[in-house]
Amino acid sequence: MSEPDLHPDTVAVHAGREGLAELGVHALPIDLSSTNPLPDIERGGDSYEALTGGRRPPEGGSNVYGRLWNPTVARFEQALAALEGADEAVAFASGMAAVTAAVLALCAATDNRHVLGVRPLYGGTDSLLAGELLGVEHTFCGMDAVADEIRPDTGLVIMETPANPTLDLVDIAAVVAQAGDVPVLVDNTFATPVLQNPLAHGARLALHSATKYIGGHGDVIAGAIACDAETAIALRKVRTATGSVLHPLAGYLLHRGLATLPVRMRAQQENARVVAAFLRRHPAVSHVYYPDDDTTGILGTQLRGPGAMVSIGLRGGYDAAERFTSRLRIFTHAVSLGGVDSLVQHPAAISHRHVAPEARPGADIVRLSIGLEDAGDLVADLEHALG
Ligand SMILES: *Cc1c(COP(=O)(O)O)cnc(C)c1O
Repeated sequence: MSEPDLHPDTVAVHAGREGLAELGVHALPIDLSSTNPLPDIERGGDSYEALTGGRRPPEGGSNVYGRLWNPTVARFEQALAALEGADEAVAFASGMAAVTAAVLALCAATDNRHVLGVRPLYGGTDSLLAGELLGVEHTFCGMDAVADEIRPDTGLVIMETPANPTLDLVDIAAVVAQAGDVPVLVDNTFATPVLQNPLAHGARLALHSATKYIGGHGDVIAGAIACDAETAIALRKVRTATGSVLHPLAGYLLHRGLATLPVRMRAQQENARVVAAFLRRHPAVSHVYYPDDDTTGILGTQLRGPGAMVSIGLRGGYDAAERFTSRLRIFTHAVSLGGVDSLVQHPAAISHRHVAPEARPGADIVRLSIGLEDAGDLVADLEHALG
């Protein structure tokens, strides 16, 4: 199902489903095995050797142990890789486990123990680097300073676009050019593979918090990285060694979610356009952060649509944000994003609380994740809460 002539909508529905007819099933099979029979010691040993080395189980071998390989998760990974135009994808227990594995595999496990973080970044990523938990050094910089901040020992550049929560667009190819031969990881959570494919612009890794749009229903915590085969081996070695594996039931839910991802993304985006247009006209709103008004040329080339995240600045600052979030009825006041239902949260107080003050979003900003409800109902809810 990786035929390049198939439309991504078709790939989303069919990828990762090879061999189901031979198994006599139509729905994706769920393999919950924590351990697996070994055909004999020799082949068991060969399988263990391959899997702990980050490779696939050999033909006629065994999956050995659930921390090493799971076929249900592998099907999801194959489908995500097809959607990202990548050789492979590696799934993790969460988006932060995926970020951690990338830093460990490309920096901590090598001589290149410096990470360059291009701000703004998701609060968890920012504070993971700032906290220096992973035995690597870090520098933060803006998108135009990457070339200046690259060091001989830089092993990874981490960037995000559209960025959280201000929806800043960053030119992936421009950052890749500045990074030279240092691999660039793009957090593609907000855009999803439906709207943006970072590898096509020179990034080495495309990372997802699959908790968000890919799962899409607010019931899975997961992460994934799409990349080349060599990087996938390094990531799987770390995943096996540190145990940051995705549970097979979560892998199943994510794979099921992929089939509707393009449709959900387009419908949520249409709602977001309506909501953003309404908010731009509202006197209580000082600024709408929604990249449909992009002037950099990134929208329409790198990014195929503005997506379904909208942030707003409120004229009344923090107090207005407190009133607004508590008055909404359809929007749930909760962190996370990308699900079928609309959410609202205050980044400075919650998701970006631990980001250094100079990089933290303003106290007047609230972030909306636009869901699949009727756009008119969403606008009415916002109008009431702003009034
Ligand atoms: C949520 C999020 C993450 C972290 O993912 P988890 O699944 O919560 O660990 C990383 N990047 C972005 C942009 C996110 O929104």
